Amino acid sequence: MPMTEPWIIVGKGPAGLLAASLLLEQGHRVVVVAKGQGSLPLWSGALDFYSWDTKQHPVKAPYDHADHLSGLSLNREQWQAGWEDWRRILQKVGVQTQVSPDHENLLSPTLSGVLVPRYLVPEWQYAVTDPEPVTVVSWDGILDLDLHLWAERYQQHTKMAAKTIQRPGPQGWTARWTPLHWAGYLDSESGRRWLADDLEAALDDTFDQCPVLVPQIIGIRHTEEILSDLRVRLGRPVKEIPLIAPCLGGVRIAERWKEYLLGHGVRFVADEVVGVDGFGVQLATGGALSGRVVLATGGVLGGGFRLQWDRTVINTATGQSIAWSGKPEDLSCIGVSDANSLWGVVGRSAGGWDGDRHGGAGHVLGTVLAWVNAMHEEVYCAAR
Ligand SMILES: Cc1cc2nc3c(=O)[nH]c(=O)nc-3n(C[C@H](O)[C@H](O)[C@H](O)COP(=O)(O)OP(=O)(O)OC[C@H]3O[C@@H](n4cnc5c(N)ncnc54)[C@H](O)[C@@H]3O)c2cc1C
Repeated sequence: MPMTEPWIIVGKGPAGLLAASLLLEQGHRVVVVAKGQGSLPLWSGALDFYSWDTKQHPVKAPYDHADHLSGLSLNREQWQAGWEDWRRILQKVGVQTQVSPDHENLLSPTLSGVLVPRYLVPEWQYAVTDPEPVTVVSWDGILDLDLHLWAERYQQHTKMAAKTIQRPGPQGWTARWTPLHWAGYLDSESGRRWLADDLEAALDDTFDQCPVLVPQIIGIRHTEEILSDLRVRLGRPVKEIPLIAPCLGGVRIAERWKEYLLGHGVRFVADEVVGVDGFGVQLATGGALSGRVVLATGGVLGGGFRLQWDRTVINTATGQSIAWSGKPEDLSCIGVSDANSLWGVVGRSAGGWDGDRHGGAGHVLGTVLAWVNAMHEEVYCAAR
């Protein structure tokens, strides 16, 4: 197949978007076909790689631990360069991330007030190397965040103070506002003015300079600008706590990433792939696309594998059946990492993911890197 043939990436979750970005950087033409959203809108936006050492202690420096991704044969240098590449790509997409100076996991809060290890954390999200006292502000109607419970858990967990402030919503606010409504309002000029005035009034009588944490509702397009203006006006950092899915952090990343790829000539096709061969893919609507194929279809959760009534599992893109032990707990780690096939497989659809041992982003990155290496090997062998 000539090298001018495009790459067809099936799936627009993190694995598909990362593979598309790396191919684009290498000068390839890329088409992304997906039947629905990937899982990014379910993420807070932080890219995890937590894992456990041989003594069952959490790994502090994910940067060093390629050996925790068994079967992917990545060396330390490739693994480290991969994290840097991902960070660089997110930067191009318009998402700045924080990483600890010694490349260890940062601590970032969940919705229940517990700090958990995260590796690459977007600038808008609260993340620290050591716990500190905080002030948490929320507004009526944001039901996901129970301020009292959050503060209690935070104090128990970190032994640090957490002051809470509950405020009424703005004029025009109704109890039906979802985080998406809030974000739309706060992206507007009037919303930004209201937020800054309200926070200033709320913090009037608090003299400490500890960071202010707010629920993840601070806009979609102007988040960083709004948070940085607030920092100047209030004289202390203002950062977000992620809410339950759909999470605005992941929505921001997914939107900016797609926009970046579209702006660089990547074509997006909304369709379901129902057949794959050595020449390309067949689409549910009847058409076909030719090119070299990479499946980033996300396993059972992403819709890439379908559990049928007779308890067999099939690959929705190829129609092939998938081996499964029959145990429900094994469903999330099944996959098809078939090195001999005519197409590549990355992300959750490659299988082998173990939620107790490594975070989703680490698995996405490991499988994409392993596939990129295999592709280079193939080009190198073909050239000899
Ligand atoms: C609620 C939730 C929260 C999570 N939070 C985090 C987090 O904060 N940090 C973290 O690191 N990990 C997180 N994870 C784990 C992470 O989501 C997965 O590891 C990751 O989604 C795998 O990405 P993927 O690109 O392989 O698949 P997905 O994101 O599932 O994408 C699959 C894509 O393939 C498409 N597709 C499937 N079949 C077909 C077909 N036949 N034709 C066309 N398109 C098709 C889908 O429409 C979709 O676009 C979370 C997971 C869940 C469920």
